[in-house]
Amino acid sequence: MPTPESRPGLSTLALHGARESRDADTPIVSPLYQSVNFIQEVGTGDGLIYPRYGNNPTADLVQRRLALLEGAEAALLLGSGQGATACALLALLRPGDHLLASKWIYGGTHKLLTREFEAMGISVTLVDPLESRGWRKKLRKHTRAVFVETPVNPSCRVLDLRPISYLTQETGLTLVVDSTFASPINIRPLEHGADVVIHSVTKYLNGHHDVIGGAVMGSSDYIEEVRQKMILWGQAPDPFACWLLERGLKTLEVRVQRQNENAMKVAQWCASQKAFTAVHYPGLESHPDHTIAREQMDGFGGMLAVELKGGGAAAEHFLRRLQIFAHATSLGGVDSLACEPRFTSHAHLTSAERAAIGIPDGFVRLSVGIENAADLIADLKQAVR
Ligand code: PLP
Repeated sequence: MPTPESRPGLSTLALHGARESRDADTPIVSPLYQSVNFIQEVGTGDGLIYPRYGNNPTADLVQRRLALLEGAEAALLLGSGQGATACALLALLRPGDHLLASKWIYGGTHKLLTREFEAMGISVTLVDPLESRGWRKKLRKHTRAVFVETPVNPSCRVLDLRPISYLTQETGLTLVVDSTFASPINIRPLEHGADVVIHSVTKYLNGHHDVIGGAVMGSSDYIEEVRQKMILWGQAPDPFACWLLERGLKTLEVRVQRQNENAMKVAQWCASQKAFTAVHYPGLESHPDHTIAREQMDGFGGMLAVELKGGGAAAEHFLRRLQIFAHATSLGGVDSLACEPRFTSHAHLTSAERAAIGIPDGFVRLSVGIENAADLIADLKQAVR
């Protein structure tokens, strides 16, 4: 690929980034190396290929492409987003170390940090991102890293990365950002002072509801550390998942742009309806983080949440009536989905605990797909009747 003076656009990178050959007979579709074993040179361990090591050629191509998309030195693909978070943090933290993490995180991450990490002797303090100087006040001598998620699942709050990255840069901590909800089309956290980016590629990056995977991006040295954790904890992805992901990436920008547009239309319509007591979408001027989102993001995303008047019972009625939005967990794909976090990502919390973090009963998360926006709105309209 020619290297223009400015960085190629994201859509170009998602299609061609890291492609090495333009020779005659090079296939347009990258080959799938669905092979666990590769013939090895006799008399040396160098160049050994084995998928668990993250160096299957199919994985390798996608990893280099993802690094280009996030503006990172290197990237690593793992078997799930959860595996990516676990290995990314295990590469930074040892027993005795301390992690500062946002209180507003995906439920699986919350359990990983509060149950598994604490049991391993890694202490974790959850910080309320709204508390003034909260991050600085909770720092300890052995604090090594700060973990945040933005936009937040499922509340759709958006964190201002600037003050957090000033702190981590000043104190030499590593700032890790789970950017799953945004995708690199809407924000690239490394441009805002983060050191490490995590994605559940299960969501926007693949975008077709048919791959489970995760990715970590950062410096080459750090990614090598994550790779060692991945190898030993057995978190590598299957080559076919990497190949499907490569195919999904080709349409990443057009998908996400359409999802941004659709979500904005859906959010605006929901905001005009009495059936919803609240609509959470960073693109709405009424959203508490609208200004931050406008400054730091290139698009407001395809995720929104609504609160139904009538609580849990009303949410159930609404979900049963939906005909285009499917009642299913996960997010970020081309099909629109709806789910209640009280039964999925946040089922481990009590109703009061959920309400305290902005997820009262009646809260429904919408992952807006690429269907016709008017049809999506018509579906919601008939469901709230
Ligand atoms: N991070 C976020 C923000 C998520 O929403 C999820 C899953 O929903 C994960 C990480 C975990 O990803 P996976 O389901 O691919 O393990």
